[in-house]
Amino acid sequence: MGNLQQEIQRLLVLRKSGGQKAVWLSDHNRTALHSVPAGNQPGPPPARAVAPRVPPPAAVPPPAVPLAVQDFRQVSPAVSSPAGAGGVAQVADCSALGWEELQYAVQNCCACQLAAGRKQVVFGEGSPQARLMFIGEGPGEEEDRQGRPFVGRAGQMLSNMIKAMGFERQVQDPARAVYIANIVKCRPPQNRNPEATEVQACLPFLQRQIALLRPQVIVLLGAVPLRCLLGLVGINKYRGSWLDYQGIPVLPTYHPAYLLRFEQQKSKFVEEKSKVWEDLQKVMARLKT
Ligand code: SF4
Repeated sequence: MGNLQQEIQRLLVLRKSGGQKAVWLSDHNRTALHSVPAGNQPGPPPARAVAPRVPPPAAVPPPAVPLAVQDFRQVSPAVSSPAGAGGVAQVADCSALGWEELQYAVQNCCACQLAAGRKQVVFGEGSPQARLMFIGEGPGEEEDRQGRPFVGRAGQMLSNMIKAMGFERQVQDPARAVYIANIVKCRPPQNRNPEATEVQACLPFLQRQIALLRPQVIVLLGAVPLRCLLGLVGINKYRGSWLDYQGIPVLPTYHPAYLLRFEQQKSKFVEEKSKVWEDLQKVMARLKT
């Protein structure tokens, strides 16, 4: 028993010096250790060194996130659980989140099946003080690659329109800033329209973005945001009409990708583009009042 006691004590000292706070001992070893007179124990006192008779949990590496984010994650229910076989999980409760918390929740969201195919989540971008907000349907291939909204060819066209309105994408000055977001934050495969379950899972994020921003005007780009945000069908019918989302004036117009379809048909391209410009002029007039 004497050699066994010494060996257990040696191992306890070694484990403790290595930072281990608890070990599991068999009944036999525990009895052997406790039989050593307290005054002769070179190792840690048994009460501190010996764990309850439950094997310690496997070591789990801490998540690779900043401390502040870990703190948020411990208290917030907004990080959505993975989508189940039906393609949608519990809808995130993000109604009380600030910008940083919301962005963290979106970046880590797996609430719908789109999470499986994305390269990057596209949260949205712009100034949180922007008076003007644009909403599209979802990230395309280039947006998915860069993690930014409207950066492909349609995005370039949108940037040009924004400039022509006297606004800028990359400025923080509220007088000229815009905010750009999408209905869904992850790319639908083959750029298909987002499905109802995906919209249902993701819409609370956009709703929270709008609530935080409280823009003076929202421009909806195309039929999908019109249907998903306002429940209205028919971009041709509603294009250029003032609508309302929770007290915020909303104006639907064509998506830049729609205009790009007519690039090779010059007269049609000019005709459709001038309709969009007409709509955007209404927005500019509204923002001046
Ligand atoms: S699309 Fe929206 S709901 Fe679906 S995984 Fe991405 S962030 Fe979550």
